[in-house]
Amino acid sequence: MLRYHIDSIPDTRVTAPLEVDLSLSGEVASAPAVFLEKETREEFSRIDGRITGEIGRDGTDVHVDLSVSYEIPLTCVRCLSEFVRTGETAERTMFFHQKDSDPESLERYGSDGWVDLGPWLRELILTDLPFYPLCREDCRGLCPVCGQDRNQKECGHPEDL
Ligand SMILES: [Zn+2]
Ligand SMILES: [Zn+2]
Repeated sequence: MLRYHIDSIPDTRVTAPLEVDLSLSGEVASAPAVFLEKETREEFSRIDGRITGEIGRDGTDVHVDLSVSYEIPLTCVRCLSEFVRTGETAERTMFFHQKDSDPESLERYGSDGWVDLGPWLRELILTDLPFYPLCREDCRGLCPVCGQDRNQKECGHPEDL
């Protein structure tokens, strides 16, 4: 669960923060998809990993300090094969209370008191993903003449066509 009610988050002026150790799965994928392309949404539905860290608050200011290790299937832009990317990312941030019910930023929460880390966490992972995913650095891609995956077999057509 990536939603926390403000009343369940310990005030770190008087007590220790909440220790987080969660498995990362469909939770991230089920957050609102406004920031995602359709393809990325499908990839996110198959994400796997772990979220660890701490959540605490100082009054109504919620501080979040999380690390994410993840495995996500991506499609190589050169050879179109699917591969699994393993990554790690971490960030700390503050979520602020906003009185009107329509939070404008990812790091605000409304009067209902629910702090939703899902969209923020997904942004964090998204920005950690390569813009041009490659199955490996020197992927040779598909032959433009016959479509052969050059990583698997030589087709004999010139490479620099
Ligand atoms: Zn490739
Ligand atoms: Zn060829």
